Amino acid sequence: MIIETYSPEETFEVGKKIGEKAVPGGIYTLNGDLGTGKTVFTQGVAAGLGIREPVNSPTFTIVQEYRDGRLPLYHFDVYRIEEPEEMEEIGYDDYFFGEGICLIEWADRIRELIPRDHVDITIQKDLSRGMDYRRIEMIG
Ligand code: ADP
Ligand code: MG
Repeated sequence: MIIETYSPEETFEVGKKIGEKAVPGGIYTLNGDLGTGKTVFTQGVAAGLGIREPVNSPTFTIVQEYRDGRLPLYHFDVYRIEEPEEMEEIGYDDYFFGEGICLIEWADRIRELIPRDHVDITIQKDLSRGMDYRRIEMIG
């Protein structure tokens, strides 16, 4: 499925619908260059889950947990991961195979660790369509 958005608010709304429909154990991988909107999308998912805490990129930790919604949200940013062992250290499988929702920014960096059953989301710009245009492709 491909969705085109023309503002951060629209991308937020796409994420929000995902959050509203999400079921326990859902895994969503988010790929796309820096500044495409992976975190904006995640903020929408969090809103859809009823999370009120502010959600930002987990810059200094690999994973940030949000527990005040309908389901726990585990927000990963694996941009700085160099080796899969770093994921072992944080006990990633407890999150991936738990009862919450996992959203993983830069998931391509740990492709081999991602369970087969997941939704793959790629966000791309196309400057010929304007600065705020985003193409969001969801597979799975
Ligand atoms: P990432 O997490 O992919 O690095 P962010 O979500 O942190 O990106 O930032 C995306 C930036 O792009 C924000 O400043 C946002 O306001 C801007 N933006 C402009 N248009 C859009 C859009 N259609 N969807 C999402 N973000 C957009
Ligand atoms: Mg981000």
